Amino acid sequence: MTTLIGVVRESGGERRVALTPDGAGRLTKFGLQVLVEAGAGQQAWFDDADYVAAGAAIGSREQVYADSDVILCVRPPTDAASARAGAAIVGLLGLLADPALAEKLAAAGVTAVSVDLLPRTLSRAQGMDALTSQANVAGYKAVLVAAGAYGGYLPMLMTAAGTTRPAQVLVLGAGVAGLQAIATARRLGAMVTGYDVREAARADIASTGATVLDLGAAAATGEGGYARQLTSDEAQAQQRALDEAIGRFDIVITTAQVPGRRPPVLVTVGALDRLHPGAVVVDLAASDLGGNVAGSQPDTTSVTPRGVTVIGAGNLPSSVPQAASTAYARNVCAVVPVLLAEGEIRIDLADEIQAGVVVTHDGAIVHPLVRAALDRKEAVS
Ligand code: NAD
Repeated sequence: MTTLIGVVRESGGERRVALTPDGAGRLTKFGLQVLVEAGAGQQAWFDDADYVAAGAAIGSREQVYADSDVILCVRPPTDAASARAGAAIVGLLGLLADPALAEKLAAAGVTAVSVDLLPRTLSRAQGMDALTSQANVAGYKAVLVAAGAYGGYLPMLMTAAGTTRPAQVLVLGAGVAGLQAIATARRLGAMVTGYDVREAARADIASTGATVLDLGAAAATGEGGYARQLTSDEAQAQQRALDEAIGRFDIVITTAQVPGRRPPVLVTVGALDRLHPGAVVVDLAASDLGGNVAGSQPDTTSVTPRGVTVIGAGNLPSSVPQAASTAYARNVCAVVPVLLAEGEIRIDLADEIQAGVVVTHDGAIVHPLVRAALDRKEAVS
């Protein structure tokens, strides 16, 4: 029997779709059947008719859940556990942060494949790296959001009415999103400065042609090439230097994360007071746990008494749904074949990629990090 790949419609304001018509075409050429929930691509301007033209079928949500061997999603659907036992669900499931959902999926006998847990340094996994593809979209959009809220131009403009100076943009954190923000702000003509605690990231900033902010701080690279948490002395020294440096910028974009930790506060209340009225700060790290900017909240814009606009970014990739879905669909189209052998789902945890992303299988949580996160949660409650 041919394996059936289902695509569910997202909810909760998420505009991306896990598979585009182009992706559906790729999977059908691979010998798979594709069933898309009616209207799944609508918010990203992909019509049901485009999926049908690519060889997919359209059905109800109930049909997708009842018939699919593999269900593709972007965010974990609230009804994910109603997938049938033995089926796999593939998406940005975020199960490390929500191990209780892993427990639910395991109990339902669903194989959960959390693409956000992909081992990112494996070269054969690069095409599957949805965190990278979506961070690229977020970094790009963060600059457009900042430019939209800023009262001046980003480029230097020479007109008969005079010459304007280019905006000074500072990007804190130069991982995937930060480097894309730097590149986008440079394309718009701004004068861009970047900063990161990792040495490799400082070299990446310089390679874009942007200026590297020198805070006199030693590099702090940790496990897996990610940033490590700074010691409190290091963090204080960095903060003092950053507070000093920040006042001359018009736009500040922050993207600094430390895996498994609260994002560090890099723009303090004192630093916000040094920015000039009209300056704009966009915090890509804003989350319910806190962000890089004092007081920022996701999806919330506020203006300080001094007149600095602070934008806590929400789900920026969802606001560029066509491009974000196209990149995401390419990622999941690369993940699906890894889960199959001779056209059928074959879970093999000896495979490095599967061991990274498969969280539940055969009724159990098989991912040690998610297991440990659940044990910690149970110990607290
Ligand atoms: P991230 O979202 O975890 O963090 C964003 C950036 O914030 C990082 O560059 C980090 O160094 C920086 N940061 C953390 N604390 C900071 C602080 N106090 N001050 C300033 N900056 C701070 O990172 P990401 O964008 O998901 O990925 C970054 C890491 O992942 C890098 O090691 C990158 O090379 C690696 N990566 C590798 C691949 C690959 O090999 N294919 C793909 C993607 C990412």
